[in-house]
Amino acid sequence: MLNLFKKKKCAMCGQKAAKPTEYINDREEKVIICYKCVPYAERRAFRRR
Ligand SMILES: [Zn+2]
Repeated sequence: MLNLFKKKKCAMCGQKAAKPTEYINDREEKVIICYKCVPYAERRAFRRR
């Protein structure tokens, strides 16, 4: 499980995150979002750290 976090997969598309950005989701969890999914994260009101 820990290895999955170290690989920094995008929480939105599930693929290896390129240019990952950390967001806090609505459950107050830290999530990694790749640059392609940033617009979706913004739309879901994820907070940028
Ligand atoms: Zn993504």
